[in-house]
Amino acid sequence: AVSVDHLVRRFGTGPDRLTAVDEVSLTIPAGSVVALTGPSGSGKSTLLHLIGAIEQPDEGTVTVDGVVVSGLRRAALARFRQGVGFVFQRYHLLPALTVLDNVIAPVLPRRGRADHASRARELLDAVGLAGRERALPAQLSGGQQQRVAIARALMGAPGLLLADEPTGNLDSTTGGQILDLLLDLRDRHGMTILLATHEQAIAARCDRLVRLTDGRVTEDLDLTDGEDPADTYERAARLRL
Ligand code: ATP
Ligand code: MG
Repeated sequence: AVSVDHLVRRFGTGPDRLTAVDEVSLTIPAGSVVALTGPSGSGKSTLLHLIGAIEQPDEGTVTVDGVVVSGLRRAALARFRQGVGFVFQRYHLLPALTVLDNVIAPVLPRRGRADHASRARELLDAVGLAGRERALPAQLSGGQQQRVAIARALMGAPGLLLADEPTGNLDSTTGGQILDLLLDLRDRHGMTILLATHEQAIAARCDRLVRLTDGRVTEDLDLTDGEDPADTYERAARLRL
């Protein structure tokens, strides 16, 4: 489970000071899939960075599976990050490495490359990139690079996946397939997923919708209660996404 308690993150100083995440508190049970929505600049990426301990909060705490991750020392932080998959909004692929090596890179210190290659190929297949293992990132479209980033995030079999607009550059069919993959991983492995998205069709298929406005939680909706999950568009329309 993920617990966020009175989290605050500020940027800048003096009159330019901005509170990107403003007193956010959330409890996310293990195995749930939460959509984080809200306008551009509302703090979605910053909140994901704080939960993944990529950035540190100015106030408040993040607790993951009973461990307070804000303020962990280096070795403990490295251990925590091994259990977290992160899909960055701007992919962050390594340009000199092939697709396959990008996927393997985060787990390389543990065991050798050959030990990881077959799992990496399976994940690339699952995200629809079979046959592109030897391409370089620059030879791929934005959507394909995004799918490499998703495969990479799943490589370490994370218990927690933090995904920043994972379907943002994909057409709706491919985006839907990526969400199918994530929901399937949740169903089979109990992975907890927090994903930032602007897309109503994606958010409506999640278990819960949290909306941020100016860094604050302005809506927190359970989407699981007794509704037919097939009616996603209609539901999304009612939710004013
Ligand atoms: P988008 O939908 O455009 O991705 P977002 O909801 O992810 O937006 P954030 O990227 O979290 O929003 O940004 C929240 C606010 O914090 C914005 O006003 C942004 O300009 C500011 N901000 C984010 N990172 C920094 C930084 N490193 N330095 C200064 N300001 C920042
Ligand atoms: Mg963002």
